Amino acid sequence: MASGALHRYLRAMSEADPIAAPRMRKPDWIRVKAPVSAGYAETRKLMRRLNLATVCEEAACPNIGECWTKKHATVMILGDTCTRACAFCNVKTGMPRAVDPLEPEHVAVAAAELGLTHIVVTSVDRDDLPDGGASQFVKVIEALRRSTPSTTIEILTPDFRNKAEAAVERIIAARPDVYNHNLETVPRLYPTIRPGARYYASLRLLESVKRHDPSIFTKSGIMVGLGEQRLEVHQVMDDMRSADVDFLTMGQYLQPTPRHAAVEEFVTPQAFSAYAAIARAKGFLLVAASPLTRSSYHAGDDFERMRAAREAKLASVRTA
Ligand code: SF4
Repeated sequence: MASGALHRYLRAMSEADPIAAPRMRKPDWIRVKAPVSAGYAETRKLMRRLNLATVCEEAACPNIGECWTKKHATVMILGDTCTRACAFCNVKTGMPRAVDPLEPEHVAVAAAELGLTHIVVTSVDRDDLPDGGASQFVKVIEALRRSTPSTTIEILTPDFRNKAEAAVERIIAARPDVYNHNLETVPRLYPTIRPGARYYASLRLLESVKRHDPSIFTKSGIMVGLGEQRLEVHQVMDDMRSADVDFLTMGQYLQPTPRHAAVEEFVTPQAFSAYAAIARAKGFLLVAASPLTRSSYHAGDDFERMRAAREAKLASVRTA
């Protein structure tokens, strides 16, 4: 090796991140359009003006161009800094700032200005707060009900570690339309992918939502491509059904940066269709499974479908 090349090689090696995982090339079915539309720019401007974070940006969601063009944004409350450091997630980790008391009103203004018929509200994990952030979810739901009463509300919450029962009780009393909590992956991969969480605690949280109010739709999702086995995914589906989860979402995991968990496999669209067929056979009211499916992708349309599916199911029981 020539001395210049050797020097560059040694410098690259010394700068290389020892825990960085190599990236696999994305297949054609994953490619998405760059976010360049006027709708995208307006959504971005509104979020900045209202000082709101979005999971669309923080999680580097591949659908941001499509969703924001349609003015569908998923607001991330309780700030932009998470107290956990999951191996799949791009959201910044650290000590979060104090909770913004204006955030609930700002979310309500955003819903009104974006003209949302359905809003998805999620948050970072706030293990530092005595209630895990549950009261802020309640305030956001109340603010939305006051300012846009016809907007349906879907919340996507953390697991409220060690505080779940009280947190769920408070949030359910505020009556969101959909309660979403993602299991994210199969239990075997929790120690590496979601080390701060417990699979069965998340499952119990979903179960307790239905126990408190069976009329609230529940939703949960997993990412695939992290090294899970097909039968493990089927087991997760069974676990969700045993917790009476209505809606399953499944999407391809994408490595946000080389420091995050590597993609083990790009699951083909055909394999997603096969998973969806099995999930439907297991009794979910609704299943969304495709490489680019995310928890909040097409959430408004899916909510209408889920409501119609429940009506149809109840009607068939009545006429049986
Ligand atoms: S799929 Fe969800 S997180 Fe991604 S851009 Fe759309 S609304 Fe945002």
